Amino acid sequence: MAKEIKKVDFNAREGIWTLQNVETGEHRTFRIMRKRRGNLEGKFLVSLLRGSDNTEDYTAFAFMDENAGSIHVWRRMRGNGKKSAYEVYAIMLRAALDATVNDGADTFEIAGRQYRVILADFCRRCGRTLTNPESCDLHVGPECRKHYNI
Ligand SMILES: [Zn+2]
Repeated sequence: MAKEIKKVDFNAREGIWTLQNVETGEHRTFRIMRKRRGNLEGKFLVSLLRGSDNTEDYTAFAFMDENAGSIHVWRRMRGNGKKSAYEVYAIMLRAALDATVNDGADTFEIAGRQYRVILADFCRRCGRTLTNPESCDLHVGPECRKHYNI
């Protein structure tokens, strides 16, 4: 498959990012969103997709520094002695931002493992948000694929 470089708006840095382990195919989806109201207004919130609805089911675990792009995991989400999953995700996401924004790449490497960065897409048939790597590659969600017999 042709390597496709997705565009990133580094000024906003907002969006839905899926990171996929190239070797195992495992993937996690994250959302970076700037709060527009409330007591966290102006802060960039970093969340993990933990449910089946890829527009709603996010759990926030960190703030992103607007200028440096560094990701600060909330104290209660950190591990005791060893890194929590959230701290590992923060490192991966930071590497993903660096690779895509600074190098124009769509992959990055951590500890010898290669990961793919996939920006959320929209289903070409129904317009729903797509975050699953396979759906993003095809630009069509699972339900609509049945319609096209793919
Ligand atoms: Zn669809």
